[in-house]
Amino acid sequence: AYRKGGYHAVRIGDPFSGGRYIAQRKLGWGQFSTVWLAYDTLTSNYVALKIQKSAQQFAQAALHEIEFLSAAADGDVDNSKCVVRLIDHFKHIGPNGQHLCMVLEFLGDSLLRLIRYNRYKGLKMNKVREICRCILTGLDYLHCELGMIHSDLKPENILLCSTIDPAKDPVRSGLTPILEKPEGNANGGGSTMNLIEKKLKRRAKRAVAKISERRVSMVGEETSSKTERSLDGIDMRCKVVDFGNACWADKQFAEEIQTRQYRAPEVILKSGYSFSVDMWSFGCTAFELVTGDMLFAPKEGDGYGEDEDHLALMMELLGKMPRKIAIGGARSKDYFDRHGDLKRIRRLKYWSLDRLLIDKYKLPETEAKEFAEFVTSILEFAPEKRPTAQQCLEHPWMNVKTENDADNVDAQMNNLQIKG
Ligand code: ADP
Ligand code: MG
Repeated sequence: AYRKGGYHAVRIGDPFSGGRYIAQRKLGWGQFSTVWLAYDTLTSNYVALKIQKSAQQFAQAALHEIEFLSAAADGDVDNSKCVVRLIDHFKHIGPNGQHLCMVLEFLGDSLLRLIRYNRYKGLKMNKVREICRCILTGLDYLHCELGMIHSDLKPENILLCSTIDPAKDPVRSGLTPILEKPEGNANGGGSTMNLIEKKLKRRAKRAVAKISERRVSMVGEETSSKTERSLDGIDMRCKVVDFGNACWADKQFAEEIQTRQYRAPEVILKSGYSFSVDMWSFGCTAFELVTGDMLFAPKEGDGYGEDEDHLALMMELLGKMPRKIAIGGARSKDYFDRHGDLKRIRRLKYWSLDRLLIDKYKLPETEAKEFAEFVTSILEFAPEKRPTAQQCLEHPWMNVKTENDADNVDAQMNNLQIKG
């Protein structure tokens, strides 16, 4: 893929944008891009540098993403709306052509990695609540203030806010050291190389010793060991990223949106969609955080396709789809007969969400029921009946006082009394 029209090959120390940004190490990649940790010599901060493939269609997609990220940044002066911040963008000319680059604030691992790190066991309820509060804050901002639909919400596209200073903590659990703060440009790095290497080695030693207790927002690689992993102390603040598929509610271009497992029923049935498709994906994501499993993982089977299986799974969990909705889409006839029954999957096995959480995931009954009520209220087949992000923020489940909170309040009261 590192050829004409493809990825731009980056080496550690490579300068970008006239030397302002210095590449440090690879953070990740997507279909269209590679993402690098880079040092911003102007602000002395670490940033994420997203370097798009050079071919025309990728450049187009990058311009699209920049449009949406810029709109999100413009309306969020305090950077408090739980959406990744676009800091800068520029063109970079390399041997494979011209690459559009986005400079984003540096964030931590995705919720998918967090779930993996936790060995797919699911997170504690109050952790999930903290995460949900961030996602909903982001969605409320995108929907109500900007009129934007994200269209690809899922654990992979929500990143924890990094509390790591990459300069002070050069070793990720993956054990890839990153470079010392560079001297302003790539050439400046050369003369200090020996010193840097020595420092790095010393730091790496110290960091290895600390790894077992290192659980900031870099959760590291999944390992095969079976020991319990505690997420205590990880700050669960996070932000919505990846605006490559975002659209304006009043200017849509794609009919098929969203990643399969997080796709709303109206998208499958092609009945038209709006902001509430993000709410559907949010409901699926919340479930996955609690259980470690995807809520809907459709597969094609003998005589039926993935779409029909998906609709069947939805109905097994949420009850029969109201007939009007089932038969109301441009694709309805492919899956439903005129009574609103699936054409090829006839016998559904109903299992309510609260029973699923209690019987399969062994959640305590009250906890399961409260959470199931929250998620079920979001996973409404009728898009207009789904609560908005703002309404979700006001839902009782979002505002449950946990034991920890109660302890904290007690502790604070004690403090006050002592001081008083
Ligand atoms: P694509 O649109 O190609 O899927 P993404 O924007 O999802 O690209 O980024 C790809 C990967 O790069 C992410 O999954 C994540 O691992 C990493 N990444 C993206 N943005 C950031 C960021 N701001 N901070 C840290 N890592 C990031
Ligand atoms: Mg992505």
